[in-house]
This record gives sequence, structure tokens and C-alpha cells, in this order.
Amino acid sequence: MKPVILPPHQLRCFYQGGARIAALRGDGGDESWSPEEWIASTTPRYGEVVAGLSALPGGQLLREAIQADPGSWLGAEHVAAFGADPAILVKLLDAGERLPVHVHPTRDFSRQHLNCPYGKTEAWVVIEVTGDDPHVYLGFKDDVSAEDLRALVDSQDSQGFLDLMHRIPVEVGDSIVVPSGTPHATGAGVFVVELQEPTDFSILLEHKPFDIDGETKGHLGIGFDLALQAVKRTATSLDELASWRGHLDLTKPADQPQKTMPPIADPYFRADLVRPEASAAVAAGFGVLVVIDGAGSLDGTDGPVAITSGDVLAVPYSAGEVTVTGNVGIVWSRPPAPDEAGKGA
Ligand SMILES: [Zn+2]
Repeated sequence: MKPVILPPHQLRCFYQGGARIAALRGDGGDESWSPEEWIASTTPRYGEVVAGLSALPGGQLLREAIQADPGSWLGAEHVAAFGADPAILVKLLDAGERLPVHVHPTRDFSRQHLNCPYGKTEAWVVIEVTGDDPHVYLGFKDDVSAEDLRALVDSQDSQGFLDLMHRIPVEVGDSIVVPSGTPHATGAGVFVVELQEPTDFSILLEHKPFDIDGETKGHLGIGFDLALQAVKRTATSLDELASWRGHLDLTKPADQPQKTMPPIADPYFRADLVRPEASAAVAAGFGVLVVIDGAGSLDGTDGPVAITSGDVLAVPYSAGEVTVTGNVGIVWSRPPAPDEAGKGA
């Protein structure tokens, strides 16, 4: 198979953003309330059956195509390690406003309470920022008691939450891993490629300023008493934060893929920058690509595919080793390596 250029798949959400996705993708989508594009998704939105799943150009759902031929799409080693599932969800996320403070469950919590083997550790690769002071919020600066956390949720004290959290300035090329359980919020003006475990589990600590019924939809249907047990209430130290971050000059060419993520991401996903000086070879394997600028070509087993800025693609394992040429930049996301199966929390 050849790499497949995917049609637009921007989703409406309860928070604002999306203009930069429309600009990058050139698809003229709704620019105010569609801040997420789910790319090569085999993960439905929470509580939905089909919504959230990506389609191939002919209309077939990618998930069906993979289930029909997992070896070609994912490779035997991946299937042996993770099953007939890409084990990754990739999005473009254009935060037009600060997102609510929220948390995703760990794998243990998901297994115990949500009947799912995946939690949702996620990570951001910052590809564009606007405003004077782009930033994110991540982790509590000090330990927070269960009573204090509950009081903040009950009172919906937005500033109270933000005051407790690390506020981290970000710039283009930063990568930030958000381990499951860690409270976080992306700030306005931050445009990222977002990598996640393949679930849509979010616990909304903050919901009042947003257009969503948080009392009903904020706790995954298990109630806040239980849902808040998923929150890492202990302090996140500066050393810990440093181990969750990486940085790469996204404009710098190299004739091999450049790892964007710190090692803590390894059990969950991989993301490389591919920006060849002459050409760069990427090993065979399922990939989810965002072409962030330029134009070029992907040449695999079944011949070349021309790519240009704003394209997003799914690369099947059976494309083989792919040679990238051209003046082009790609954020190339992949599932964890098969030998990472069973690691992570
Ligand atoms: Zn999140």
C-alpha cells in the first residue's frame, strides 16, 4: 500500500479554536468552534459509536480497513504486541481559548472503572503560537488534599485551580508529555500536534465558564467522588516537569528522523520531525503524519506520493521503509515500539 492522504476531519467542541487548523489544512472548516482535528482516528468520541472515527478517501472507516487487514496496516509485530489497533490517537489542537483544567485517567484506573485497557497519557508538539505569552498549565505546585480538590470542583473556582498549577511558557518546537492523572490546560494561542493513548476519557475539574454541562458530562458517568480519585494530587516537582519536556528546532533539516519527545513518552507513542536535507528514510510501521510546511514526496514499496503543507496522512506498515525527499517538514507520529507493550501506567 501507499501512504494515504486523509480528508478533513475537524470536530465541533465545547471550547473555541480551529482557525489555524483550517488555515493549515486549507479546508475552509468552521473556524470558531472546531478546535480539534482527529487524524487517522480509530477512537470514537466518548459515548459515541462512529463520531470521531476517521474515514479513508473512499469513505470506508480506517478502523474497518485496519480490522480487515491488520498485518498490512500495522505489521505483525505491532499486532502481536497491541492487537489489531493502532494504539495511538493523533489530533491537531488549536486552542482559541484556554482549555478547562482537566485530567485523564491512568491505565489502572481505566481498567478498574472504565472497562478499558488504555488510560490517556498525552503529549503536545507545539507547531505554532500566537500572543505575547503562550503558555500551558501542568501539574500542581504543592500537594493538594482531597477535600481542597473537591471544594474547588464544587465551587468551580477557575482562578483557584490556576493558582495551584505550574504555568509553563511554551514556544514552537517544544514537546510536553502530560502523564495520565496530571491536571493540565492548554493556554490560548497554542497550536499543537497532540498524541494520546486511544481513548476519549476526560475528567473536567473546571467546566463552569465553558459551554458544557460539567455536572453531567465532567466525570465519565462515574460521579466526581470516584472520578477525582484519578487526579494526581501530589506536587509535580520541577525535576519531574523537566523530564516531561523536550525541544527541537522544527526548521532544522536532518537526513534522519529527529525524536521530538523525552524518553518518558516511549511506552505511549513516538513522534519524530522529518525534514530532510537531501532525503530521510523512515522505518516501516504505521504512522500518522502532519505536513507542517513545504512540499515533497514519500516513496515506499508501492511508489511515491506527493505531499504538501497541510496534508495529513496515514502510513501503512506495508508501505515499507519510506524515503522522504523535498523541502518539507513533517511531524511523524507512531505507536509505541512493540517492545514497549506492557510498560507505562
Ligand atoms: Zn488533556
